[in-house]
Amino acid sequence: MAEVLVLVDHLDGEIKKSTFELLTAARALGEPSAVVVGPAGTAGKLSEGLKAYGAAKVYVAETDSADFLTPQVEVLAALVGSKDPAAVLIGVSADGKEIAGRLAVKTDSALLGDVVAVGAESATHSVFGGAFVAEAKWNTAHPVITLRPGSVEVENAEGAAVEETVEVPSGAGRSAQVQSREPVTGGDRPELTEASVIVSGGRGVGSAEQFSVVEGLADSLGAAVGASRAAVDSGFYPHQFQVGQTGKTVSPQLYIALGISGAIQHRAGMQTSKTIIAVNKDPEAPIFEIADFGVVGDLFKVAPQLQEEVAKR
Ligand code: FAD
Repeated sequence: MAEVLVLVDHLDGEIKKSTFELLTAARALGEPSAVVVGPAGTAGKLSEGLKAYGAAKVYVAETDSADFLTPQVEVLAALVGSKDPAAVLIGVSADGKEIAGRLAVKTDSALLGDVVAVGAESATHSVFGGAFVAEAKWNTAHPVITLRPGSVEVENAEGAAVEETVEVPSGAGRSAQVQSREPVTGGDRPELTEASVIVSGGRGVGSAEQFSVVEGLADSLGAAVGASRAAVDSGFYPHQFQVGQTGKTVSPQLYIALGISGAIQHRAGMQTSKTIIAVNKDPEAPIFEIADFGVVGDLFKVAPQLQEEVAKR
């Protein structure tokens, strides 16, 4: 069976959920092989999880470089050359998009971005800020495919997870080198792109102080907090929590939009959420076109009531 390379996204010894989605999606194309790039000892911590989601092999490349982007590109490019895989799957994230772009150029492969479903010969992807869904076929060997987090239901499958050590090539040629990186998290809240529940606030929240209403509801649900660009541009909430075309792409089980109008650029980042609840005082707000449940009302009345009900359960 053809081999499919899956780039493992990991942080502090934990595999990100998007990697399990990649391993699940990869099975439509062949046999998934996980590729782990990181400091010595990383792969050992991840192997059980990779096994449980069907990785037949685990390619382990150890590096102490602060720049993980270039080693990941170089390792994947070397594996494409030596293993001739059916495809390379990478999660959609700021890093994932950059790695995929560099890899496609380096290996002369088709690049299919922001894919929401993978078939044996084609992929479905979301284009023009999510306004259209397009079916695309590749016409090169080993296409590089980036998969939007949350678009695939993860399925367990027992894999052998046989480890094979691979060298990290020196990374010659033109590339930008990342000099340092600091993880940005929302305190104890789940990471935005990994969260199964997100509560987002928009300009309607009115101020940075009043974002405590959004945070209060989020905390009662164990959710991540998101924000629209208007809320971010108004200084209500930091940019790393922005959802949308120029922010993060999310696809949680539940997305609650408080005081967000539902502009196309915001929808581009959240419209594949499984269930959408919108609270907006304007009954004509476009967010209601995609909401599964809508409340026409003042978010400062509705959100605290919702929080109170959640707290009772
Ligand atoms: P508004 O459109 O001002 O809506 C505020 C809503 O709050 C209104 O519907 C109002 O009825 C409601 N409201 C007010 N008070 C209350 C209350 N008390 N209770 C309930 N409801 C209330 N936007 C993004 O979000 N993400 C992006 O990544 C993004 N990228 C962009 C990229 C480009 C190139 C461009 C041009 C724009 C982009 N935008 C993005 C901006 C986008 O076009 C909208 O301007 C933005 O999403 C609007 O944010 P909002 O819904 O919070 O604000």
